[in-house]
Amino acid sequence: MSAPLIETEDRRALREAVAALGRRYGREYFQRKARAGEPVEELWSEAAKLGYLGVNLPAEYGGGGAGIAELALVLEELGAAGCPLLMLIVSPAICGTVIARFGTEEQKQRWLPGLADGTRVMAFGITEPDAGSNSHRISTVARRAEDGSGDWLLSGRKVFVSGIDHADAVLFVGRTEDARTGKLKPALFVVPRESQGFEYRPIPMELTAPERQFQVFLDDVRLPADALVGDEDAGLLQLFAGLNPERIMTAAFTLGIARYALDTAVAYARTRTVWDRPIGAHQGIAHPLAQCAIEVELARLMTQKAAQLYDAGDDLGAGEAANMAKYAAGEASCRAVDQAVQTLGGNGLTQEYGLAALITATRVGRVAPVSREMILNYVAQHTLGLPRSY
Ligand SMILES: Cc1cc2nc3c(=O)[nH]c(=O)nc-3n(C[C@H](O)[C@H](O)[C@H](O)COP(=O)(O)OP(=O)(O)OC[C@H]3O[C@@H](n4cnc5c(N)ncnc54)[C@H](O)[C@@H]3O)c2cc1C
Repeated sequence: MSAPLIETEDRRALREAVAALGRRYGREYFQRKARAGEPVEELWSEAAKLGYLGVNLPAEYGGGGAGIAELALVLEELGAAGCPLLMLIVSPAICGTVIARFGTEEQKQRWLPGLADGTRVMAFGITEPDAGSNSHRISTVARRAEDGSGDWLLSGRKVFVSGIDHADAVLFVGRTEDARTGKLKPALFVVPRESQGFEYRPIPMELTAPERQFQVFLDDVRLPADALVGDEDAGLLQLFAGLNPERIMTAAFTLGIARYALDTAVAYARTRTVWDRPIGAHQGIAHPLAQCAIEVELARLMTQKAAQLYDAGDDLGAGEAANMAKYAAGEASCRAVDQAVQTLGGNGLTQEYGLAALITATRVGRVAPVSREMILNYVAQHTLGLPRSY
């Protein structure tokens, strides 16, 4: 496969159009909504109407028929305008991808048009309090009801699930028992938010964002047979089909934030004068910003590579690239935001400039959906062939 390093004209045009939409709303709008704990409904539905939210979903179900590369670009540009939409990572990227690739015709008809036009939202829950980064240890289990109905009963606990309060359903990663071996294997279930036995409670977080995180209690939640997405025996493969887009999108999320922070810092450094020239003329201010710009650009390139591999159907190659991209973007973004805050001095911590809240927002990119350390473990073992320590 050969892929150009320079973006096509179509993608550049999409970038410009999304950036224009982002600018019309801007940081001030986003922060106001986030502080009020309200969803960014106006931006979400306008982006949906313009076809941006479902750009990666198949055209026959109302999507744009493009790929994760385009959806990542949408997220990055909105973030660069000060409006990073976390739920884009979850609803169209993870859930939409998994259903489009592995759902039955009926599941696709039921979910994809709504996910594409933004009228329906699906959250995603894999993290568990006792398993944490070790997703082989998850203990949410689905078993068949004993009445012969074919229904499932799902029980377990999840934590840090984003956006449940504004979602129609959650795609949960559970496990089913292999009839032959008795071993538990991963499987994916769509659980409507109003299901009986499904409880969710907000976790107080130090984040200024329109989405909240929840802990979840699933107590024998009864689900119809077709709540299971895809093949019961191929859960792991299906899961990875959703987790690669999640990593690519998280990279785009943090890179958008990094660009917003750098733009703000550069604009400030050009004009703020405390001696006889703008602070941007001091190399102590200019060089760290230049360094951040280089690191952000490198991480963008890696993110584009990961998306390209994923969209070309190379799940294995995309796995390595998506991990590297997420790592590089998370690190570049944390440094860029930190340096931007420093550049603005006291103003870096005021609400007016919208940077302080980004300190915790970019930290999310170091922890979720897979931590920096777990990516280093992955690269050490898979890329470098070093022995495993855990
Ligand atoms: C804002 C936010 C939104 C989120 N949204 C979602 C969501 O929508 N859905 C969802 O399912 N989850 C979500 N998460 C959860 C997120 O994916 C987890 O926090 C993440 O996977 C890390 O798991 P943990 O918090 O349990 O950390 P732990 O697994 O407890 O890890 C703690 C620390 O130990 C380190 N560590 C653990 N094992 C090793 C090892 N073998 N080697 C070296 N270091 C190690 C980790 O790197 C980390 O630094 C979200 C989290 C946040 C903060």
